[in-house]
Amino acid sequence: MKLPLVDYHVHTARCGHATGAMERYVEHAIEAGLTELGFSDHLFMYWLPSDRRDPELGMAEWEHDFYIEDVERCRARYAADVAIRLSTEADFIPGHERELEAILRRYDWDYVIGSVHFLDDWGFDDARYLAGFERWDIDALYARYFDVVGCSAESGLFDTIGHADLVKKFGHRPARDQSEAYARLASRCAKAGVCVEVNTAGLRKPVGEIYPHPALLRACRAAGVPVTLGSDAHAPAEVAADLAAAVHLLHAAGYEKYVQYARRNRTAVRLPA
Ligand SMILES: [Zn+2]
Ligand SMILES: [Zn+2]
Repeated sequence: MKLPLVDYHVHTARCGHATGAMERYVEHAIEAGLTELGFSDHLFMYWLPSDRRDPELGMAEWEHDFYIEDVERCRARYAADVAIRLSTEADFIPGHERELEAILRRYDWDYVIGSVHFLDDWGFDDARYLAGFERWDIDALYARYFDVVGCSAESGLFDTIGHADLVKKFGHRPARDQSEAYARLASRCAKAGVCVEVNTAGLRKPVGEIYPHPALLRACRAAGVPVTLGSDAHAPAEVAADLAAAVHLLHAAGYEKYVQYARRNRTAVRLPA
């Protein structure tokens, strides 16, 4: 099935936990019929001293220039077939905003994805640290997580909020109804002017569900939050994965348009039927 769409969340082998040459990612995007592919590899772990950065969780700082060159090379080589966008997925770590701002200023991004993968020092989406869930009341964990995501939206550093309910990844479900939390997060995103991405990677994880939950996506729609689309591919064959399901979810939530980015400027584009 050809999908005249974008995939704005794609990693590369440079992050230490993805595989395959960048050219294979691009070729998969072309085969899928995508109009745009955005490389958004994990930024280095800027908030830690260099000897404490996990090489399996992000690029090294010295690799950044090479990453940009790789994206530029793909952009030129495949210009006739697909538009390539330059992005990064940066971790939001409260208290380290100014450091991140200075790093992001070094490059000419098309857009920047802000993601919460850590609460304090705990990488809660990392299967190596699953035991951390035992220390939390799950309702309290959700509340804390959504508050940090709201802060990431308000930081002004990001164009798009990555996988806005990643905390559900391993299937930990809150007991409390989340309607108010969803409405509050959607309102914070709307006021901050950020997009939320519909990220299909959750379908490949224990939770078996797209990020965000349909009710959170409906809350975003009600608040007027724009959306982008991404597979969170960590292998070439994952590019464009389940984007048709993402479009279906968007239609069900009342969305008719999504956002494309170039040089941090937005254009609203109609979703395919
Ligand atoms: Zn990753
Ligand atoms: Zn992520």
